[in-house]
Amino acid sequence: MTSCRLCSSQAAYLIEHAKMMLCRDCFIKYYEKKIYNTIMKYGMLRGAGRVTVAVSGGKDSMALLAAMNRLVSEKFPGIKLIAIHINLGIEGYSERCQEIVENVCEDLGIEHVIYDLSSREGYRIPDLKSTPLGRRICGACGTVKRYLMNRLAYEIGSDRLATGHNLDDVVELLFEFYLKGSVEDLVRVRPVSWSDNPKMVTKIKPLIELTERENMYYAMAQGIPLLAASCPLAKGSRMLRRKRLIGLIEREIPGFKHMLYKSHVKRILPRLEKTVPEPSLTECEKCGMPSLSNMCSYCKLVSRLAARSAENST
Ligand code: SF4
Ligand code: ZN
Repeated sequence: MTSCRLCSSQAAYLIEHAKMMLCRDCFIKYYEKKIYNTIMKYGMLRGAGRVTVAVSGGKDSMALLAAMNRLVSEKFPGIKLIAIHINLGIEGYSERCQEIVENVCEDLGIEHVIYDLSSREGYRIPDLKSTPLGRRICGACGTVKRYLMNRLAYEIGSDRLATGHNLDDVVELLFEFYLKGSVEDLVRVRPVSWSDNPKMVTKIKPLIELTERENMYYAMAQGIPLLAASCPLAKGSRMLRRKRLIGLIEREIPGFKHMLYKSHVKRILPRLEKTVPEPSLTECEKCGMPSLSNMCSYCKLVSRLAARSAENST
């Protein structure tokens, strides 16, 4: 029997980068303390009253929701937590995601909003496949989720929007943006995206220093059901290929992901923030939400979809 590093109980989880085996109870404490430390280090909840957690039904966002629920009741009792889930209409997948969200929220007593893309917006994510956007469907799906999550969080009066982005997600983005030399994108990879625009809710990433594996362990330790299958539209995605490659580098250079993230946040980001100007936002002429040009990227996407449907029906 392998013993837990912190007590004598049987170890259940290996924290790879720290080469540390922990039992279930010590792992839960370790995980929640890491989130708490991240929240405090970056002042994520300073002055917050209403926090929306964006939940997909996957292990990361569900682990985030369960941990935030514990932390808020113990350390930030003045904060109201609300979960928002968007049902993307992906057959054989979205139904299960929604079911997990509803069951976990009901078990934990968390107020939640389910937003059904098909009935509310008139399309489903698979409909984008028939448009030129379908070649990079995860990019288009990301645009939809980012826009709607912000709009919904704004409409319910949240002053923070917490997402389940983890260390692996962030390192994958850094990898892509460094390769492309895209400094405007690199400067946006940060633990908190503060906003003083009332229609743009401040985004926080409390899991940014935790790995996908740690989130999965926490979900398992808390009895949160895991999705049996991944999104069928993700097959062959570049993002997954890059994550696999980063996994290989991590095996050769243990601690690579933590090192890349830390050098970005501590050394590179402060310099980029001084030199790369914040984009100036205007209002989308169609929906009135913040936008970089006359029409926001979400309204452009919906217009392209409508144009394609009109072509198909003639
Ligand atoms: Fe959307 Fe791609 Fe995620 Fe599927 S894998 S939910 S298409 S972003
Ligand atoms: Zn718009």
